[in-house]
Amino acid sequence: MKGACPCRNIELHWQLVDLSLVPRKCDCAYCSAHGVSWVSKSGTRLRATVHNPGYYSVTRQGMGMASFHECTHCRMPVFASASIAGEDYAVVNAACLSNPRGFADPVPVSCGYESAQQRTLRWQRNWSSLAKVTVN
Ligand SMILES: [Zn+2]
Ligand SMILES: [Zn+2]
Repeated sequence: MKGACPCRNIELHWQLVDLSLVPRKCDCAYCSAHGVSWVSKSGTRLRATVHNPGYYSVTRQGMGMASFHECTHCRMPVFASASIAGEDYAVVNAACLSNPRGFADPVPVSCGYESAQQRTLRWQRNWSSLAKVTVN
């Protein structure tokens, strides 16, 4: 599945054939403010290409454990990543993906009650692998 932010500064190539993924709407302050819902699938690989690094920023959110990769030109978080035990994992903003079938309505999730360890384990289980981010 391919994806990009609206101005296409950040493009995504995701080795995903499952079109039935249901986006998850996180209730943290950051995701609520941006109205983001996320999709991921374990065992799939995501690659991201940044065309203009001047409009690319990475901010730490989620108790500083996850990095949110934003296009600052469209002010949109495109994907989020976390490094766990030497592996990079990622979730993608459903609004940046072109799913030919369209995504289902997002389900709300709340993760405020989790411990840092629970969160890390959940990410490791559910998130996609982030192959790499190239600037091109
Ligand atoms: Zn953009
Ligand atoms: Zn969130």
